Amino acid sequence: MSTDLSIQTVIEPFIIKSIEPIHMTNRRDREDFLQQAHYNLFQIRARNVLIDLLTDSGTGAMSSEQWAAVMRGDESYAGSESFERLEATVRELFGFKHVIPTHQGRAAERIMFSVMCKQGDVVPNNTHFDTTRANIEIQEAEAVDLVIPEGENPQTIHPFKGNMDVEKLKELIEKTGSEKIPLCMITVTNNSVGGQPVSMENLKAVRAVLDQYSIPLYLDAARFAENAYFIKLREPGYEHKTVQEIVREMMDIADGCTVSAKKDGLVNIGGLLCTNDDALAQKEKDLLILTEGFPTYGGLAGRDLEAMSVGLQEVLDEDYLKYRLAETQYLGERLVKIGFQIIQPPGGHAIYIDAATTLPHIPPSQYPGQTLAVEFYRAGGIRTCEIGSVMFGKPAENSPTEIPSQLELVRLALPRRTYTQSHIDYVIEIARDVFNRKDKLTGFKIIEQSPHLRHFTAKFAPC
Ligand SMILES: *Cc1c(COP(=O)(O)O)cnc(C)c1O
Repeated sequence: MSTDLSIQTVIEPFIIKSIEPIHMTNRRDREDFLQQAHYNLFQIRARNVLIDLLTDSGTGAMSSEQWAAVMRGDESYAGSESFERLEATVRELFGFKHVIPTHQGRAAERIMFSVMCKQGDVVPNNTHFDTTRANIEIQEAEAVDLVIPEGENPQTIHPFKGNMDVEKLKELIEKTGSEKIPLCMITVTNNSVGGQPVSMENLKAVRAVLDQYSIPLYLDAARFAENAYFIKLREPGYEHKTVQEIVREMMDIADGCTVSAKKDGLVNIGGLLCTNDDALAQKEKDLLILTEGFPTYGGLAGRDLEAMSVGLQEVLDEDYLKYRLAETQYLGERLVKIGFQIIQPPGGHAIYIDAATTLPHIPPSQYPGQTLAVEFYRAGGIRTCEIGSVMFGKPAENSPTEIPSQLELVRLALPRRTYTQSHIDYVIEIARDVFNRKDKLTGFKIIEQSPHLRHFTAKFAPC
């Protein structure tokens, strides 16, 4: 540890070995691209984006060790050594008996819920990610969110805003009957409320309630390492434990997990389904063969399994995690200095700007989040993601106006190990420019949309 207190900069704990050029554009080019894309940022070509903060999923950079591992990939259909190495890594890190590879997180979810859920069942979670919710609802089961009240208020500061409300869990079980709850899930970190962590204390309290009713607990563990590092920083008693020990303690509380390895697995594609239940694992592997592939590759190439195995270990490096959370916090604090309201405190993987308070003159029906996201792109080629009434607005019965989303957010998600501090400083400069002109911005209307997941394809026009 440095004794020179004048050193404040948390440097990227890596050097750049291979580069991908950014294709530079100017404001006039981008105005054309916006018009061609009907102001939908999903329709902009990636080559015309300078800084892509659309998502942190599968967009990170692999290390030299991961690329070396890619070359070791054993592409045997059955019994591949690459699978043996991945299985050994996951068993050691997570401690689960059965390790089932899948092509990404939602494939693990689909298989798990198909095997565990039936019509009329109820599955609680702190907050369901959209794919877990969809995979439960397709089984005609109900997905219930039970996050603590602090988690629902963007401005409330709480060290573990992602926690589950244990009292509400008890009430739900009493009301529903434990026989209708085949499992409970906890999402670490809680993506949908801003990448907010869940404490070890909360995991233990949830487990204690579930034990009274013999309900299994599964973690939706896409960001298991970021969550563990937050525990180390914020939860008394964990400051001297290693992240690896904390990860193992989190996993030991659960009966299994689903993982999107596109997040803390540090790979561009991959997922995992883990369980300690032999009978369940057998059914899951049978289903895996039907749609993903043989259980020793599960929809991935041998080289993908190798990269995942190395990535799952690298993500536990505390210098990396320190840099990761410092980068997010740095962006968040500077946006607040400019005057933006964000979901507080900054989470692990993204900063969420409150577009409703930034653009109070633009009503939800004219999509303030979309307006701000378009302006970030126009001004600086920065691609962000609207999480507001474009994504969640619903048509109202007998009325031309929609039911708006609860919050109008713009998410700036940070790909892992991809952008340097100067990239982030550029984002902050553009944000300042946009903020200074915010009162002059005007909203959008939707001129064409599809009935499902409209945000991907909707066409917009300026109001
Ligand atoms: C990304 C994500 C998923 C889904 O994983 P995919 O790999 O995108 O299919 C599930 N849960 C959480 C919390 C996620 O962030």
